[in-house]
Amino acid sequence: MKDSIKEKGIELLESLSQAHGAPGQENEVRRIFRKQLGEEVRTDRAGNIFFEKKGSSERPRIFVPAHMDEVGMAVQAITEDGLLKFVTLGGWWAHTLLAKRVRIRTAGGLEIPGVIGAKPPHFLSESERQKVMNLEEMFIDVGAKDAAEARSFGIRLGDGIVPDSGFARMHNPDLLVSKAFDDRVGLSAVIHAALQTAKASHPNTVVFCGTVQEEVGTRGARAAAFSASPDLAIVVEGAPADDLPGVPSRERQAALGGGPQIRFMDSSAILNREFIEFVIQTAENNSIPYQLCVRRMGGTDAAPIHLHACGVPTVVIAVPSRYIHTHNTMVDISDYLNTVKLLVKLIQTLDKETADRIGSYVD
Ligand SMILES: [Zn+2]
Repeated sequence: MKDSIKEKGIELLESLSQAHGAPGQENEVRRIFRKQLGEEVRTDRAGNIFFEKKGSSERPRIFVPAHMDEVGMAVQAITEDGLLKFVTLGGWWAHTLLAKRVRIRTAGGLEIPGVIGAKPPHFLSESERQKVMNLEEMFIDVGAKDAAEARSFGIRLGDGIVPDSGFARMHNPDLLVSKAFDDRVGLSAVIHAALQTAKASHPNTVVFCGTVQEEVGTRGARAAAFSASPDLAIVVEGAPADDLPGVPSRERQAALGGGPQIRFMDSSAILNREFIEFVIQTAENNSIPYQLCVRRMGGTDAAPIHLHACGVPTVVIAVPSRYIHTHNTMVDISDYLNTVKLLVKLIQTLDKETADRIGSYVD
């Protein structure tokens, strides 16, 4: 049984992380959500997708979103030479992009391969070589001889671009590497928890969700919170790991293999303390490892959700992910499986009395 859950996880992580999901063009990811959870899913007019599962009670309504999009780019112009200029969608650091392969998705559904190019080092001045190159100085080479040929491939302005980077298991096969684990690792956990909850009883109604356009300022979640109308929210993320040079081991809050991260705050939200305590207690009662975290920077879909309507008590649970916002993100399958387990346990125990207590503020 345990092995089949792990195999299902790896299968989901591979297909979801390899899907194209530039912000605003999450179609392929949405298709997988629908395929996994069945035709009773619904979408809203922003593109968010929902799978609602009623348990033994209408309330509380528990909202469990993860974002479907990934950091990407869009075609901004086609030069006379047939090269593509691009705008970034989400936070890229130029150092990680040079000489990398990408895929451009055309309106006709084709995937066109490209390489990110720039002025070669041989032609750079000494001072240019010391600097990080501006993203505006880079272009994408699709191998077209001129603009007309690039257009003949089906490429148009606005087409979404994502990293071209295959899924792989490391020599230690429990470590997985792929593009887009921010946030496909979270989305996969949400879908996986939904599949497990489908067979189980729970004292609430759960709204599992894939949101759009998180990477460009948590835009989709604003509409998704309205559609879900929740009493509580559990945002599931792929958060940056910090078990790397530069962070002393005693200060680490997101080590691979350390278990899901429970976030107290970041620059976009201070999460509900009472709810966090409940999550910690649930993890301890079920011997699930976890890591507590206070982030100086960053933000998640919790930003618009926790202030939706009259306010929604919210927590953020995250799978530590090395090298997010690059072509190669690494996660540990044990953190993923523990995140799914924690979500399922929370869904099985969050009843009306608990939700009322969390949201009552009787100090
Ligand atoms: Zn994310």
